[in-house]
Amino acid sequence: MSDYVIPPPPPVVVPTADGRPFPVRRVYCVGRNYADHAVEMGHDPEREPPFFFQKNPDDLVTDGRFVYPRVSQDVHHEIELLVALGSGGRCLTPTEAEAAIWGYGVALDMTCRDIQAAAKAQGRPWIAAKAFPGSAPCGVITPAAAIGHPQRGAVVLRVNDVLRQQGDLSQQIWKVPEIIANLSARFHLAAGDIVLTGTPSGVGPVAPGDELEGFIEGVGTLAVRVTCEAD
Ligand code: MN
Repeated sequence: MSDYVIPPPPPVVVPTADGRPFPVRRVYCVGRNYADHAVEMGHDPEREPPFFFQKNPDDLVTDGRFVYPRVSQDVHHEIELLVALGSGGRCLTPTEAEAAIWGYGVALDMTCRDIQAAAKAQGRPWIAAKAFPGSAPCGVITPAAAIGHPQRGAVVLRVNDVLRQQGDLSQQIWKVPEIIANLSARFHLAAGDIVLTGTPSGVGPVAPGDELEGFIEGVGTLAVRVTCEAD
């Protein structure tokens, strides 16, 4: 007999280069963290304090598929560096924040741009635009023990072999340790937390049948096929 009134949900896990899965606790995302993307979204590229939103742990998908949601007609790709925490805490310094990182990966912050635009116009939360099922395809997490803490390196996304996004980690407005330190002032971070660290310019729509290929130099790759809900 279970001690629970209902069966507990299964843990959400992401595969790692270590061979053992990474169990996910929370997923935080940073908005507008590359100046050229802030500009393309109609904002001032000045260094404003970072702002955050969340996805759900089980929005992470690792089966190489992105299911296009019926509720949107304008889903965009945003390629992002994924950071996975091996420990946490409150009010970390940037040095402590970097020490808390277990590994890195490549992820897509898939975004229903039409729903997000309506939410922005009405001053409403982004949850329906950002945290829908399957909204965070991601690849294997590689331990920092193997690759270090990448501070520069190409961030590239191709759709059907056409270059769509191209930036560099060095262009991040808020560096990864700063992002985590800032998050830790607001939330209690813990092992299992994942942070998506923003996207360079070139975001744009996807359609069923598209083949997305992401690459972050020194980190890894991600291949995703866009499918319909009925597929
Ligand atoms: Mn994003």
